[in-house]
Amino acid sequence: PDEISVGELASRMKKTGAEVVKCLIKNGVMASLSDVIDYDTAAIIAEEMGCKVEKEVVVTIEEKLIDTTEDKEEDLVPRAPVVVVMGHVDHGKTSLLDYIRHANVVSGEAGGITQHIGAYQVNVKGSPVTFLDTPGHEAFTAMRARGAMITDVAILVVAADDGIMPQTVESINHAKAAEIPIIVAINKMDKPTANPDRIMQQLTEYELVPEEWGGDTIICPISAKTGQGIDNLLDMVVLTAEMRELKANPNRAAHGAVIEARLDKGRGPVATLLVQNGTLHQGDVIIAGTAVGRVRAMTDARGKKLAEAGPSVPVEIIGMGEVPGAGDEFHAVADERMARELVEQRKHEQKAAAANPVGKVSLEDLFSQI
Ligand code: GDP
Ligand code: MG
Repeated sequence: PDEISVGELASRMKKTGAEVVKCLIKNGVMASLSDVIDYDTAAIIAEEMGCKVEKEVVVTIEEKLIDTTEDKEEDLVPRAPVVVVMGHVDHGKTSLLDYIRHANVVSGEAGGITQHIGAYQVNVKGSPVTFLDTPGHEAFTAMRARGAMITDVAILVVAADDGIMPQTVESINHAKAAEIPIIVAINKMDKPTANPDRIMQQLTEYELVPEEWGGDTIICPISAKTGQGIDNLLDMVVLTAEMRELKANPNRAAHGAVIEARLDKGRGPVATLLVQNGTLHQGDVIIAGTAVGRVRAMTDARGKKLAEAGPSVPVEIIGMGEVPGAGDEFHAVADERMARELVEQRKHEQKAAAANPVGKVSLEDLFSQI
């Protein structure tokens, strides 16, 4: 968009290619007719040759398709916090999530929960809270690279009979990079070998200083096995989230993140999505990375069918044409044909980038070669 080939520049100025090349050389740029020069260079050359240049305003398919306008304050309503449970393997993340899910299931609903799910929403004393199991490392890295963080609060699980381990440190770094508050859950307190003081001591080395030691880190001793301390942990989560006054606009096209996705033999691509803003409806066309499709069916973590899902609601959907990448951003869009066009374009760009990893020669490169 901000570039033009020498030949094209010449024809737009109604000059010969040789004249333009000559003018370029005079300005220290060695370029042939097929070479591409940037806008600033083209502007200098054009002016010198008696022409005026103006940047073309190109509206891309992406811009036409995806509404990125900011929400007005009056359109925003409170939304549930999205809480990620992080920590070293085997320190009890899944056990904690399972405990919370079972303890907070309304009776009668309990039936369907058997399979593993990476995201669900429960009511904690009347406040909805969305929990995510640590997304795969890949998903996290992808989201961080985009600067898009999908979580509002992190629960850092550390086993009281173990200590700070490599993935604990990684989790701390992720949460810090995302600038989200960390609540530490010292787990496995039921074990006779539990040593919470040692954990707290270790945490101070990562600037996580317990409140009782004059710091501002909330530390909750818990047991995901017995349930001890989990009520208090949830209170702290809700309190911490409330201070952030989280809001979203349910009245717009949905966008959010792919939490996990897989290919199911019978149902095709299955994706867990977290709606971050807007409302997702059954039948919506969505685009996520290079995957596109229509939401054929949408269920919550309990397998209950949903017709729509608003901000902070995680859902499992089927209907995508291919498996989207974990961590991909998704958008509900109004025009399926254009969505397919955008996906083609993205695939094409990916292929081009893979074929030419060094990128094209920049003017700087040209200069340094002279
Ligand atoms: P994850 O890898 O962090 O998801 O850890 P899991 O939840 O899979 O737990 C790893 C192991 O620790 C399992 O055998 C759990 O039963 C056990 N475990 C988890 N929480 C507790 C706890 O509070 N007390 C005890 N005694 N065992 C626990
Ligand atoms: Mg686990």
